[in-house]
Amino acid sequence: MIPEKPLADLPTHQVENMPPHMGDQDLWQSDQVLRKAVVREGARSSVPLLSAFGKTVGAENVFELADQANRFPPQLKAFDRYGMRLNQVTFHPAYHDLMELAVQNELASFAWNHEGPGAHVTNMALVYMMCQTEGGVLCPMAMTYSSIPPLRSTPAISDEWIPRLLSKQYDPRDIPVTKKAGATMGMFMTEKQGGSDVRSNSTHAVAEGSGRGIGTDYLLTGHKYFCSAPMCDAFLTLAYTEEGLSCFMVPRWNPQGERNSLYIQQLKDKLGNRSNASAEIELQDTWGVMVGDEGHGIRTIIEMVQGTRIYCCTSSAAMMRQAFVQALHYAAHRKAFGKYLIDQPLMRNVLADLALEAESAMVLSMRVARALDHSSQDESEASLARIGTAIAKYWNCKRAPAHIFEAMECHGGSGYIEESILPRLYREAPVNSIWEGSGNVVCLDVLRAMQREEGAVPAILAEMEQAIGAHPLLDSSIDALKELVILTEDSEFHARNITEKLALTLQGSLLARHAPSFITDAFCTSRLAPEYRGAFGTLPSSADIGSILKRTSPM
Ligand SMILES: Cc1cc2nc3c(=O)[nH]c(=O)nc-3n(C[C@H](O)[C@H](O)[C@H](O)COP(=O)(O)OP(=O)(O)OC[C@H]3O[C@@H](n4cnc5c(N)ncnc54)[C@H](O)[C@@H]3O)c2cc1C
Repeated sequence: MIPEKPLADLPTHQVENMPPHMGDQDLWQSDQVLRKAVVREGARSSVPLLSAFGKTVGAENVFELADQANRFPPQLKAFDRYGMRLNQVTFHPAYHDLMELAVQNELASFAWNHEGPGAHVTNMALVYMMCQTEGGVLCPMAMTYSSIPPLRSTPAISDEWIPRLLSKQYDPRDIPVTKKAGATMGMFMTEKQGGSDVRSNSTHAVAEGSGRGIGTDYLLTGHKYFCSAPMCDAFLTLAYTEEGLSCFMVPRWNPQGERNSLYIQQLKDKLGNRSNASAEIELQDTWGVMVGDEGHGIRTIIEMVQGTRIYCCTSSAAMMRQAFVQALHYAAHRKAFGKYLIDQPLMRNVLADLALEAESAMVLSMRVARALDHSSQDESEASLARIGTAIAKYWNCKRAPAHIFEAMECHGGSGYIEESILPRLYREAPVNSIWEGSGNVVCLDVLRAMQREEGAVPAILAEMEQAIGAHPLLDSSIDALKELVILTEDSEFHARNITEKLALTLQGSLLARHAPSFITDAFCTSRLAPEYRGAFGTLPSSADIGSILKRTSPM
């Protein structure tokens, strides 16, 4: 039945006290903290491209694509209509649009296409802006990026693959790579019986011909329990040979131009990260080429995981930024008890605390990105990159779910509703902490770096000490760390305490050097005070809330 009046004119349907639509966001121009960090960390020449990307990726229609790609998750198409194995996954067109945006803007490739000062910083700034809108495409971007160093060590395949992996053309066709303009790379490590402990892998590889070792052909048999982005063109895969765990590149198509024998069993029904597919895959005499040295698969994988971890920590910082922006928008337009939320003292405390967390996470990621840019020329930066990546991966990823939840709560009930985008961010956040080394494993890796990498502790202490004298709580935190970094039998038990302290002190020292004193003071008097318990909205009365909100507001 057609209503006599349009619904909008119903006398009961007066929409009051609701925020206006946010519309397009300019994720570059509206974020002065990001702009300053990018220039400071060496990527001034990338400002024009970042500025253009920030406008594009923050547009309302891109947020809409992200919503669609997550609402209509990928579907497995294991067989064609005649029962032939296909092993394909079909995605909503919005996912392909997002992938195209990511590939065209070099989210997986900028750091390698423009190697040198500012390259990783630019790459991470691109990631930071993209992940505010959509995190699902980040997984194939991160894996493609981190496959480049091991592939470079394997000339037999690098010429064919690297130019396509670094291409700005998104080519989703499921055809042999030689016919493609661009390609992406996934990773098969985790098996049912063990993910953190890849030594428990049971997949094995036998040489196909008389050749052995790097660059030669093998046949792999086994299963892989978590295989994300299964439509990638190839996968770096761990399997045992007689010499031990080794790394292989397994493409979707074999050199004869036939489908390689990898069988997608099912897609995972995941909490979040729903625009991206994650599969279980069986390998049965599956053709692959050895990448890196035989028996040194763990070393190869660690190198790759270092790469994907910088994506995880930057993506977590990004989601915190967008969650804060959404919360601020709501609070600025919503009244309760006769006053805007943004004017209520306790809400101001929560919002400023969220702003501090997001800023300190981004600043930490960008500093690690700079260290990566200088790693090949500067040993101390290489050590800082090694330990700093693990620290930032642990802490940024650990903080994001709690932060996003708090931003959701700032919206009251509306934050729990899908259109607010907070549920999507909230569901996405935990995976950054789980994959590429779950929390404990990453903390143990921080200890490993301290133990095995001679320069790691001196590099990180030297970085922090540049801020000595900026705040008494920072000074005492640096002093306390000098004790904590002397490893004892008990250190493993306290690895989270040690990593958290390292993260907070490093963040405090970076803010002390690069942010106004009201940011440093609020950060140190909360995060570095002995009574800090981590809940948001617990800044002390001395915090200059007005200045913090003004600095971090996109408005
Ligand atoms: C959505 C999603 C996509 C994924 N995609 C991929 C992919 O594409 N390719 C791939 O290879 N893997 C992928 N993974 C797998 C992921 O990397 C693993 O889940 C992760 O490494 C943990 O391994 P696990 O699940 O076997 O957990 P386990 O190894 O069983 O660990 C369980 C817990 O124990 C902790 N733990 C382990 N060892 C220790 C220790 N010594 N001391 C204290 N605590 C410890 C871990 O930190 C973790 O919290 C994906 C996972 C998810 C959720």
